Amino acid sequence: DRIISAASKPEDFDTENSLRPSRLEDYIGQEKVKETISIFIQAAIGRGEALDHVLLFGPPGLGKTTLANIIANEMGVNIRTTSGPAIERPGDLAAILTNLTAGDVLFIDEVHRLSRAVEEVLYPAMEDFALDIVIGKGPGARSLRLELPRFTLVGATTRAGLLTSPLRDRFGVMSRLDFYQPEELVLIVKRSAQILGVEITREGALEIAGRSRGTPRVANRLLKRVRDYAQVRADGLINLEVAMAALSFLEVDPLGLDHSDRTLLKTIIQKFGGGPVGLDTLAAATSEESETVEDVYEPYLIQLGMLIRTPRGRIVTPRAFQHLGLKDQREGGL
Ligand code: ADP
Repeated sequence: DRIISAASKPEDFDTENSLRPSRLEDYIGQEKVKETISIFIQAAIGRGEALDHVLLFGPPGLGKTTLANIIANEMGVNIRTTSGPAIERPGDLAAILTNLTAGDVLFIDEVHRLSRAVEEVLYPAMEDFALDIVIGKGPGARSLRLELPRFTLVGATTRAGLLTSPLRDRFGVMSRLDFYQPEELVLIVKRSAQILGVEITREGALEIAGRSRGTPRVANRLLKRVRDYAQVRADGLINLEVAMAALSFLEVDPLGLDHSDRTLLKTIIQKFGGGPVGLDTLAAATSEESETVEDVYEPYLIQLGMLIRTPRGRIVTPRAFQHLGLKDQREGGL
């Protein structure tokens, strides 16, 4: 249960929607993605057509769901939201598809987790806006083609490489979201503070931003926790001093690492001489799932330049030694 987890947590739900920007112009950062999407939207509106299918990929908490909602909003259409694991059978997807209105956005989060059978239904739906239904069994079986309204599929996934290639090929637009810069997170924190009615100084916002792992969801969550601290232990204003005290109380260090990150790095250093160590071995040594290590821990540590992935395994960099206050005793460093 990590406060800096980028995955959505129940404590986010009450504010997640109110903090979500609903127009493209209020969506902070990701300039390239915004520009691409804005051009496609304007072109589609100009032609009076539905937008091409869009794939958004990148680590959790960076704004994929938010962007899907903005796309629908900017196109002036309805959005239907679901996720890969929620669509269990082909019939479930057929029911969703036949209920769409022309132009609608269908948002499928974790689109890489669709089953094979469901994916097969999606191919003709995306390509020909058609649903193939088989009636009956055996030699008497007949196939029936049902026309669907032209809709826009917006798919979200953590890594584009997780998608099968036939599915990936059917997206007209593919946009990758990157971690946010501290300055962008400052804007997000200030915007959220204003919506929540919290007083915060620029330095206070910068301190929260710097420890948010480049992730808006984490920034918003830390803001809410720091607000509680400021209210109880200070006079409610979040300035630098209050932010620092609150974040140290929450055990989030100046770079946004928590106990689990530090344990992971220390394990590589102390048990494997700084690496290289294979993913599965590392996962076993830290009692985590390999997928968790790869998707949750590593991206931010790699981004910080503390960890590198090599064909022989994971290696900790001198920067990690420095941050942990440990001496790098490897010959010639790296
Ligand atoms: P994802 O779907 O990638 O996991 P979300 O779209 O749910 O992430 O974003 C998580 C939260 O972060 C949202 O509630 C939203 O308030 C905030 N957020 C994400 N991106 C931005 C952005 N570019 N500008 C402002 N707030 C953002």
